[in-house]
Amino acid sequence: MSIARKIVIAIDGPAGAGKSTIANHLARHLGYVNLESGAMYRALALKAIEHNVSPEDPAALMSLAATTTITLEPTEAGNRVLLDGRDVSQRIRERDVTDAASRVSQHPPVRAWMVERQRALGLQGGVIMEGRDIGTVVFPNAEVKIFLDADSAVREGRRVTQANAQDDPARAEKLRQDLRERDHRDTTRTAAPLRPAPDAIHIDSSTLNIDQVIARAEQIVAEKLKYLGL
Ligand code: C5P
Repeated sequence: MSIARKIVIAIDGPAGAGKSTIANHLARHLGYVNLESGAMYRALALKAIEHNVSPEDPAALMSLAATTTITLEPTEAGNRVLLDGRDVSQRIRERDVTDAASRVSQHPPVRAWMVERQRALGLQGGVIMEGRDIGTVVFPNAEVKIFLDADSAVREGRRVTQANAQDDPARAEKLRQDLRERDHRDTTRTAAPLRPAPDAIHIDSSTLNIDQVIARAEQIVAEKLKYLGL
């Protein structure tokens, strides 16, 4: 009896578009693993903070990387992230790490280091990887590529709600500003800027609720699996 081949699904898009929610859902639905590439950039950024290494210094970041192990353990609730064996899943979501991750990710050698590790994780298939350059650089041959986007005002609003900052205008504005700055860096950097792959299927989640986005993503995957005879 042959075992159905498992494919690679790439989900790219800006922060706050809903990638993690969709990736997690698809992973459960298909029995695949969901790997968050952003968590790897965040983990290296955390190590840089802890070692007083500037996120703007690629040579120092690369010597740090040489003695760094980052492990992603997919769980029902998202990725458990281990930095040199230590669970940093919560810490890497904090604001200083978020900002540093977006700076660390500008440097080509850092990206090359990440991409090599991300590709190794996808070798067997059965993987949903979310990020910014998965369909363009990490897995250009991914069988399914989804580019999940939403208007910036909508994404900013979601961030504010997630952080429970609706009643704190100063904090809300800071969150909006952080997201805009990250967007700007991700889309304007020279190394693997955030772009849809030419063969990516776009989902604009601005006016869709989560269930509608999930239904659309499931439909895209189901059509592809059918087309591949899987
Ligand atoms: O996806 P997440 O917000 O956790 O990613 C953190 C940062 O890592 C992003 O702001 C982006 O700069 C960077 N990143 C990247 N390429 C990826 C995933 C994340 O440059 N594939």
